[in-house]
Amino acid sequence: MSTNNDISIYWIRNDLRISDNLALLKSSEFNNVIPIFILDNVNSEENNLGGASRWWLHNSLKKLNSKFDNKISFYKGDPIQIFKDIEKKLELNAVFWNRSYEPWSIERDKKIKKYLTDKNIKVYSYNSSLLWEPTEILKSDKTPYKVFTPFYRKGCLVHSEPRLPRENANLNHLIKDENNIMTINSLGLLDKFNWYENFDNHWNVGEEGALEKLQIFLSDGLDGYKNGRNFPMKQNVSQLSPHLHFGEISPNKVWYESNKYKKIYSEKDVSHFQSELAWREFSYYLLFHFPHIINENLQSKFDNFEWDNNLQNLERWKKGETGYPIIDAGMRELWNTGYMHNRVRMIVGSFLVKNLLLHWKSGERWFWDCLVDADLASNTASWQWVAGTGADAAPYFRIFNPVTQGVKFDPQGEYIKKYVPELKDLDIKYLYSPWEASTQELEKANIFLGKNYPHPIIDLKDSRNKALENFSNL
Ligand code: FAD
Repeated sequence: MSTNNDISIYWIRNDLRISDNLALLKSSEFNNVIPIFILDNVNSEENNLGGASRWWLHNSLKKLNSKFDNKISFYKGDPIQIFKDIEKKLELNAVFWNRSYEPWSIERDKKIKKYLTDKNIKVYSYNSSLLWEPTEILKSDKTPYKVFTPFYRKGCLVHSEPRLPRENANLNHLIKDENNIMTINSLGLLDKFNWYENFDNHWNVGEEGALEKLQIFLSDGLDGYKNGRNFPMKQNVSQLSPHLHFGEISPNKVWYESNKYKKIYSEKDVSHFQSELAWREFSYYLLFHFPHIINENLQSKFDNFEWDNNLQNLERWKKGETGYPIIDAGMRELWNTGYMHNRVRMIVGSFLVKNLLLHWKSGERWFWDCLVDADLASNTASWQWVAGTGADAAPYFRIFNPVTQGVKFDPQGEYIKKYVPELKDLDIKYLYSPWEASTQELEKANIFLGKNYPHPIIDLKDSRNKALENFSNL
């Protein structure tokens, strides 16, 4: 316990909430706690925040700071150096934080912890972002799982029930460091070019927005989730991913709130939703145990795969100008909203890797920059899954056909028409493959291929065969 003169620090990271926040809650057992946020643009190196994430963070910090009565002190730079400077100025008693699991942040935090404890400053760290910590779950031979189902069923579910959510922290112990003059704006998170102008129409950033999303999902989306989650125009997914990423809500809260519906809706829907939360856990688990997956194939045999390097195709994929309507709709949803439905992420990912034969890393980088839920663990693991290079991955020969996927999962064509409005008058028969329509059919819908909508940039059959050939050469 601290004395009245001691000063402690609560270091805010991806835990931008008050409820079920262990580090904040524990810090309230101490007096005089300064909440600080550090924009670390040094240790993250090539994984510096992407543009959409910076937009989200800027807005979320504003909301949290106002809840904290503007008491947050802001810093930018290398946290190791910043802690050294703070420690010289203030009589520090203790530092509290919730743990991060990206390999670069683990390395950084170890150094900071050593520095602080060497100075007799106590460090208290907690798990407030995962249902199960990666070190808790191992196979009986003490090695990590590489396949999802046994990880979840034999590992997590047998190990323990997730921790119950804790009460809200009382914020009376927080004080402001009056010497800190930095503001949220001076962190420079927002790009000068306002490409994210539509994001405000789609998201209510912050803890309240997260709770609101959860309530809407529980009442309107969870019932029928297992099947409905495949259809991009159905309201069956939660869109909680950016809120979870930035820690505006804890996965424990989401888990236990959804549990209450097991007797109200079909248990299958609730269990399936919880297993998707577990995919998030599995992604963190893989990143923790196999940190090289950020840049390297988990299955090293893919290191010899003959990737193409057609940058023009990459640009057209990014812009949603491939001539394949479901792909273009997905890429434009991403650009306009900072989000893309999971089914469509799989279709556009498969197309990039298995039709355009571009390395999964080029898709991962674009998603990193554009997604508001960009998450090093989930993005890396999902791209490796889509590419077939991960351990528990879609086999390489499973290549999504963007035409049949569109027919199946956007049967009325609403998703395509929403994001590719130039095709809105095309007969549904040709909506998934406009190049098959006659010139008259196209003219009737005011479409001129090559002018106001592109010809397909690649032949599906040829490119698929090429991919399979390259695969069999491995
Ligand atoms: P819901 O269906 O409501 O699921 C609830 C929560 O479970 C999600 O919010 C998310 O936290 C988690 N979840 C669901 N599916 C997955 C999954 N396959 N892998 C990991 N967690 C999952 N998710 C990210 O959070 N960040 C990323 O950067 C990211 N990149 C992806 C890249 C590709 C190529 C693919 C195929 C998937 C990616 N995903 C990523 C996973 C998934 O698409 C999103 O988590 C999901 O679409 C978010 O929407 P939701 O919140 O409505 O999901």
